[in-house]
Amino acid sequence: TAELIDGTAVARLVREDVAKGVAELVAAGGTPPGLATVLIGDDPASEVYVRNKRRLCVTAGMADLHRHLPGDVDQDTAAALVDELAADPAVSGILLQLPTPAHLDSEALLARIPAAKDVDGLTVANAGLLAQGRPGLRPCTPSGVIELLDRYDVPLSGVEAVVVGRSVLVGKPMAQLLLERNATVTICHSRTRDLAEVCRRADVLVVAAGIPGLVGADGVKPGATVIDVGIHRGEDGLHGDVDTAAVAEVAGRITPVPGGVGPMTIAMLLANTLTAAIAQQGLGG
Ligand code: NAD
Repeated sequence: TAELIDGTAVARLVREDVAKGVAELVAAGGTPPGLATVLIGDDPASEVYVRNKRRLCVTAGMADLHRHLPGDVDQDTAAALVDELAADPAVSGILLQLPTPAHLDSEALLARIPAAKDVDGLTVANAGLLAQGRPGLRPCTPSGVIELLDRYDVPLSGVEAVVVGRSVLVGKPMAQLLLERNATVTICHSRTRDLAEVCRRADVLVVAAGIPGLVGADGVKPGATVIDVGIHRGEDGLHGDVDTAAVAEVAGRITPVPGGVGPMTIAMLLANTLTAAIAQQGLGG
């Protein structure tokens, strides 16, 4: 049966590394990185996500520069807040919590975040840098997957990698990051014919489709590493996009849900915020 990849433990290690990096930055005469989370409205799930980001940001020694706007705020006011944070030297990173209320144009708001402060890696500028294989801030969930694979010494160069899902948030940048590491990458999506057959090619299979149990044992090559990005809240707890119990009989390694990719996302957000602060303060680190 498959080895479990412990995202909770790896995320803790990443956060400890970030905390050390923050201390080094301060010791070198820099100022602590500041993370400005921006929450618009009162969506309960978003409130929980933002609260966790703020808490772990403080634990890592960074400044919590959270801002909250009412759900009925107009576009110009929201844009003005992003502009204010963009100009504030105490703000190393800006995270606009998505989704924003439907009457707002979230893409237009994201576009006002300077690439250097885009710690979610979601602006067009950072997506372009990733597409061209140039340095930039990378989206947190896919870079968290790469970090997990690296910490478990999963080889990527030359291997067959299959990504299920092509979203701007996860699937597409995931495929690009695997390509950057010289994997042979196949991207599956909702129009893919015979998903299981394609998935069975994978040495490394990353599933981010948002469909519970989409990938079963028939979609996994014996010994493969399976990364389950999906999150679904059921009556009996959280589940992923992979039928974990069945796949664990075939795979070599697998991420559980919860405790796999989930904790990595915030850890990588903190890592990005430190990276952004170091670049902005010009203090190398
Ligand atoms: P999305 O809905 O934006 O994209 C889903 C993708 O899956 C699409 O590209 C679609 O083509 C593909 N897809 C849909 N049905 C398919 C099928 N039957 N076969 C193959 N491909 C199919 O979702 P997303 O934002 O990429 O998120 C995916 C999942 O990951 C969700 O469950 C989400 O909750 C979760 N997620 C987790 C984290 C985390 O931190 N762990 C972060 C972001 C998203």
